[in-house]
Amino acid sequence: MTPKDVIAMAKENKAKIVDIRYMDFIGTWQHFSVPLGEFGESAFEDGFGFDGSSMRAWQAIDNSDMLVIPEAGTAKMDPFFKVPTLAIIGNIHDPITQEAYSRDPRGIAKKVEQYIKSTGLGDTIYVGPEPEFFIFSNIRYASEPHASFFEIDSPEAHWNTGADEMPNLGYKIRSKQGYFPLPPNDQYQDMRTEMMLTMEDLGITMECQHHEVGTAGQSEIDLRFDSLLKMGDNLAWFKYVLKNVAAKYDHTVTFMPKPLYGDNGSGMHTHMSFWKDGNPLFAGNKYAGMSDEALYAIGGIMKHCKALCAITNPTTNSYKRLVPGFEAPINLAYSSRNRSAAIRLPMYSGSPKAKRIEFRTPDPSCNGYMAFSAIAMAMIDGIQNKIDPGDPMDKNIYDLPPEELAEMESAPGSLEEALVALKEDHDFLLKGDVFTKDVIEYWIDYKMKNEVNPVISRPHPHEFYLYYDI
Ligand code: GLU
Ligand code: MG
Ligand code: MG
Repeated sequence: MTPKDVIAMAKENKAKIVDIRYMDFIGTWQHFSVPLGEFGESAFEDGFGFDGSSMRAWQAIDNSDMLVIPEAGTAKMDPFFKVPTLAIIGNIHDPITQEAYSRDPRGIAKKVEQYIKSTGLGDTIYVGPEPEFFIFSNIRYASEPHASFFEIDSPEAHWNTGADEMPNLGYKIRSKQGYFPLPPNDQYQDMRTEMMLTMEDLGITMECQHHEVGTAGQSEIDLRFDSLLKMGDNLAWFKYVLKNVAAKYDHTVTFMPKPLYGDNGSGMHTHMSFWKDGNPLFAGNKYAGMSDEALYAIGGIMKHCKALCAITNPTTNSYKRLVPGFEAPINLAYSSRNRSAAIRLPMYSGSPKAKRIEFRTPDPSCNGYMAFSAIAMAMIDGIQNKIDPGDPMDKNIYDLPPEELAEMESAPGSLEEALVALKEDHDFLLKGDVFTKDVIEYWIDYKMKNEVNPVISRPHPHEFYLYYDI
């Protein structure tokens, strides 16, 4: 799509407004709009200025002018605004030097795609995420920010989760019965279908939708794989579409990894593969039909996993999901069958094209551009340094005796632990200038100051239960 095509598309669809979007450093999509008359072909060179100081974690107030330059191939008609609006994604640049801004997450994804080409290891990185999320009713939850503090089987939780209310005056769907029974147990079929079809109308291919294991409302919708940068864009659209379709039904969607104590969390298993000249690089005759490259890539993920978690599981809440008993992976092992391992090599199809690595640790609170880029960099490092992933783990990890479990490496226990790991282990991310030193240092600093410290320094509601009467 050229700039001319974008303008023709806007006119054909009678767009009056062009909405320019970009991802902030932390992972929230931001936007502003211009009338179509202000959006000529020159916009694709000159861009639009905006105040970077009002964006979290970007420029300081004394150096705040920034430029967003729209990218032609990303234009789509927005499905929600009443006034016909063309939405287009932009890249962030410095207005003086015109250089790409190093803290633009989309810029990081662009650089990893260039970097893999420069290494000769491959030319395409495919990514297929499986985001899980909770759908909550606005009426019950909007004013109930404390829902997650209650235990799932306490009367308060039942009131809060829409499960078995007390006293039970009529038939209520039992909690955790939405997966896979048909409606009326599954109450969100139509909403999820509308979410999936809205994505398809935007030209983003979807694979399936279903209720998840958690209490009524936990769901999953899978995106069909695409190249890394495009998948960063697709995931931004995905979160936007899901939240806005849910709003039409007077509901909300949350990608918070563990909104309810004692219930399943939401992960975002991420499938990745490298290709070169149209050929898959991960098919071979080693374990599970994988190639040496694939096994080294697994070695890279395992070696850097703790540091990776600071980017793929970037919230304090992420580590409340990574606990035993809820199908979330905790132990750093790989296996072709085992869903309790952090890395799975899916065997659904024997086709070489389907050979991929499923990394199960990430969760949907991550910034897709950054998370996919960081995983790809760990995989590249594994291949470059021929990192041996060790033996696969084909036993159910949840059933292992404690002595064997103790020998296995596990995911970090907190965001702070992950950030400390990233501080010590990030050289693999700096290659090809994909993540700069500034990005890593600022990420750690931002997360510590704005998330880790404010959370740990607040009295927790459960502390009142434990200590009030002490
Ligand atoms: N909800 C689980 C997780 O936190 C995954 C469940 C599944 O296997 O789809 O990763
Ligand atoms: Mg799932
Ligand atoms: Mg999966």
